[in-house]
Amino acid sequence: MITSTTDPQPADFADVRATNLAVVLRFVREHAPCSRADIAASTGLNKATVSSLVADLIDRRLVRETGLTENRVGRPATMLVLDGSPYAAIGVEINVDYVTAVAVDLSGRRLLSWRRSFPGATSAPGQAVAAVAALVRRVTNRMAKEERQVLGVTVGVPGLVGIDGTVRIAPNLGWRDADLCGDLAKALRDPGFPVQVDNDANLAALAEHRFGPQAGTANLVYLTGEIGVGAGVILDGRLRRGGQGFGGEIGHIQLDPLGAECRCGRRGCLEAVAGIGAVLEHAELSPAEVESELDEVARLARAGDPRTLAVLESVGRGLGKGVALAANLLNPEVVILGGYYVPLAPWLLPAVEAEVRGRTIAPDAGGCRVVASTLGYDAAALGGAARVLDSVDSGRLPRIS
Ligand SMILES: [Zn+2]
Repeated sequence: MITSTTDPQPADFADVRATNLAVVLRFVREHAPCSRADIAASTGLNKATVSSLVADLIDRRLVRETGLTENRVGRPATMLVLDGSPYAAIGVEINVDYVTAVAVDLSGRRLLSWRRSFPGATSAPGQAVAAVAALVRRVTNRMAKEERQVLGVTVGVPGLVGIDGTVRIAPNLGWRDADLCGDLAKALRDPGFPVQVDNDANLAALAEHRFGPQAGTANLVYLTGEIGVGAGVILDGRLRRGGQGFGGEIGHIQLDPLGAECRCGRRGCLEAVAGIGAVLEHAELSPAEVESELDEVARLARAGDPRTLAVLESVGRGLGKGVALAANLLNPEVVILGGYYVPLAPWLLPAVEAEVRGRTIAPDAGGCRVVASTLGYDAAALGGAARVLDSVDSGRLPRIS
């Protein structure tokens, strides 16, 4: 925390104030309902400063008084909670077979969740920009009707996304060097809110870290279970992207030099051996078709069909090798399996856990648990909205309108 008394640079007063506003906002998010005195006691800011910061947050309609008071020794304290009713954060995910949009309010309450079929595997980046821009415009129109100001949009893509929002390689979409972020901002014609692009697994990890049952877990890995497999890595409470933003490509670690050909052009990659394509044997299906095929796979597994159980065991073992790599390298507290892995988790998890236990040198796999995500198919889109909220939390507050 930075306070004006410890900061030697009065010229940075605006920065100090933005930082302190963010400190108070985060405190209210985590401890609401709470009083100004609670904030002062826990943050070390003096009471006059807290009053001024809270007044500013109330003006911005980020925080409101509940009207309730808490009787304590001395004067009753007016309690504060997050407001955020005039705001929305939007997340979008582009995938091989669908586009998803999610909007949440400041407290993370889901305002809408839309999913549309989208032929990502056969669409050029320009077509994706047009489709995403159209979807974002529909979401912003809906938010405008609800008199909500859009705080930002983050778009998730299954591929390598540079720090500047350029999609360098998205093997399953067939894209290279697509300036998705710039083109999308242009297509939205200077929308008045920030547009960001990020890797889908990174965003899903942020969603789990903020909204999931494992929320707040400081060391967490999320594995996407789409046509591609990617990892979002949170260590010591922060998303880790690597030098150019290209970390987490666990799907292209080679498990078997003689294995099936991967969409990246290599052989025996984790996603070729243990991606959902290895379960279905038909990669070009719509989401509805994939889901109904997975329902059928689950039905056969429940009925004890030996061939189905053998396929799931084999995929689970391949996946377990990948999870063990992550466990040896990163020592996560939890690895979360997402996407299409979720409905198959009852049959995948025993094989995954056996491999992780057998291949991790640390006792008890370093305490690594493997669980299925409960956030559903829109985890990455939800994480896009989480990234927008993260930037508010770190001090990029909306202007007073
Ligand atoms: Zn590959």
